[in-house]
Amino acid sequence: MPKIIIAIDGYSSCGKSTTAKQVASRLGYTYIDTGAMYRAVTLYFLQNHTPLTNPKAIQQTLEKIHITFNFNAKTGRNETCLNGLNVEEEIRKLYIANAVSEVSAIPEVRWALVAQQQQLGRKRGAVMDGRDIGTKVFPDAELKVFMTADSFIRAQRRQIELLEKGEMVGLDEITENIKKRDHIDTTRSESPLRRAEDAKLLDTSFMTIDEQVEWVVQLADERISSLLRQGHFKKEIV
Ligand code: C5P
Repeated sequence: MPKIIIAIDGYSSCGKSTTAKQVASRLGYTYIDTGAMYRAVTLYFLQNHTPLTNPKAIQQTLEKIHITFNFNAKTGRNETCLNGLNVEEEIRKLYIANAVSEVSAIPEVRWALVAQQQQLGRKRGAVMDGRDIGTKVFPDAELKVFMTADSFIRAQRRQIELLEKGEMVGLDEITENIKKRDHIDTTRSESPLRRAEDAKLLDTSFMTIDEQVEWVVQLADERISSLLRQGHFKKEIV
């Protein structure tokens, strides 16, 4: 079966990564969590007190950062490693969420990570979630989904997620963080978060994860069938 790129973009805490992960597993695709990459860079910048307004220092710091995803057989998940060290748990904490959008808005950071993401998806067969996948990383993705959800529901979901990881945070603080991240993500100059013209809109406010996954998988099936009918994959099939 020919493989495509599925780009899932949208606001924070809409269920993008949970959906993307399960869609990838259903289709036998690779899941690439681009948010984890920005979070890992943020962790490194914080640990090394990198000045965010000094392009030279940023460039030099970026050269020292190596991000990989290692499969954990116990959890059945890919975990983020920063220079060989597993940082999966650390990068999900609120102090990283509070700093990540500012770091992600730095053009040098984006150029470096976008190039790496394009490399990771070059063979297709990938579900990639983030903010600029359909607009910047893979503008030619065969399927683009833009996810959104009611902001109160998003804050509640995020609170449960953090609680499951042992972090107890009030709804007000979470709402503040989500609002701030959305604002920085949508207004930055370098590849801001926006819906690609050809992206399908998915409002997950009142949907279960299973329903979201089914919705995307069905679209992917339809897209692959339509591309096959149009003869797009001729070379691979021969
Ligand atoms: O998806 P997640 O919430 O883990 O992403 C963390 C942050 O990384 C986002 O709020 C955004 O600032 C940044 N990000 C980005 N571009 C991406 C993925 C994430 O700017 N493709």
